Amino acid sequence: MTSASHGEPVRFLEHQVTAKSLISGVFWRMPAQVPQSVVSEFANELHNNPSISRGSETDHYLRHGLRESHLSAYVVERFETRDRTPTMRLLVTGGCGFIGSHFIRYVLEHYQPENVTNVDALTYAGSLQTAADFSERFGDRYDFVHADIRELDWMDDLLSRHSYYGIINFAAESHVDRSITDPENFIDTNIKGATNLLAAARRHGVKRFVQISTDEVYGSLGESGWFTESSPINPSSPYSASKAAADLLVLAAYKTYGQDVVITRSSNNYGPFQYPEKLIPLMISRALTNHSLPVYGKGVNIRDWIHVEDHCAAVFDVLMQGRAGEVYNVGAGSERTNLEIVKAILAHLGQSEELIQFVTDRPGHDYRYAIDAQKLRSEIGWKPSHDFKTGLAETIEWYRENERWCSEVLKPR
Ligand code: NAD
Repeated sequence: MTSASHGEPVRFLEHQVTAKSLISGVFWRMPAQVPQSVVSEFANELHNNPSISRGSETDHYLRHGLRESHLSAYVVERFETRDRTPTMRLLVTGGCGFIGSHFIRYVLEHYQPENVTNVDALTYAGSLQTAADFSERFGDRYDFVHADIRELDWMDDLLSRHSYYGIINFAAESHVDRSITDPENFIDTNIKGATNLLAAARRHGVKRFVQISTDEVYGSLGESGWFTESSPINPSSPYSASKAAADLLVLAAYKTYGQDVVITRSSNNYGPFQYPEKLIPLMISRALTNHSLPVYGKGVNIRDWIHVEDHCAAVFDVLMQGRAGEVYNVGAGSERTNLEIVKAILAHLGQSEELIQFVTDRPGHDYRYAIDAQKLRSEIGWKPSHDFKTGLAETIEWYRENERWCSEVLKPR
């Protein structure tokens, strides 16, 4: 995929927009392809008229790297006016949590699906505060359903009401420490819940099922190497074991029933709206309130960080362009030790490293994760657009400005 900045030619449009992922039929009822003349007209307009790109959505694409699917949707919206009836419905589970909420925002901001339905059980990790502005911003393009994916009847009922193009399953118990003390919840939601959704999707003719998985299913790496999609599954914690089990059930649904499924396995996410029990938001909120920062062991464990918006873009690209039955690793190549992260947060906030307190290591603590995302990059053309240093600084500032959100989501319910 070619990226472009202002002033560079936009020749790539000619072949990108007419490629297979011209997702016209999915977003709008319209002819299968935008005619070449329209594509050329768009390219010229984009290139020659600075007023189009300044401050507009196009500007966003130019700055952040152009994705084929973005362009397709943009061209369709820009030029196709014959019948603007949106046709695509998506069902997102776990949309009141960290990544699911970003995904809903990302899709509704960048594309024009008819509707995104958010199904969330509102566990301790999910909050209506995280999706507080969705109804106002997106109107009837957004629905919230308070429901539990462990309840098969509920899922059946929901899917019988509308025809959904895709289910994107973010809902999960997601905190490793909690899985060590209480594995049952992880088995129920992460395995049984995913199995329910798969079965309901088959029964109700959902076109595609996307399972949001994690690099943790691969277990731990030593000092060198990266996880590829063919690395063995070797989970260490009840959390990662439950996610691995779900992955195997999803792949089995492809082989057994021919169900259209895809799996994404992302590395550690960071960004706004992450529940303050995970490393980055926990350390920021403790540092902001002058509390000690508990670091496992010697802080040498390494994680590969990706900005949540880059992850969401990858999930959307896989939804639209991934091959059925395939796994796609998602990672941005930003490895850091936990101690490096904690020190960077303290430095940004002008706080002393004396706040760091080393605590007994987590049992079964994986040493290192590192993702090889080459398949996603070369097959689908995805690439990250956030630089880790800047993204972390922006995230710290977001938590500084949103202490109210933190105290709301931490309130006992
Ligand atoms: P999160 O804990 O912030 O959010 C999970 C959401 O799921 C919450 O809103 C919660 O209320 C909801 N939920 C939990 N159980 C449910 C149930 N039974 N029915 C309906 N809703 C339920 O998690 P997250 O960090 O946003 O992670 C989302 C997905 O991404 C998970 O599947 C996780 O395994 C995966 N993932 C996360 C990361 C990461 O760094 N956070 C990295 C890779 C993959």
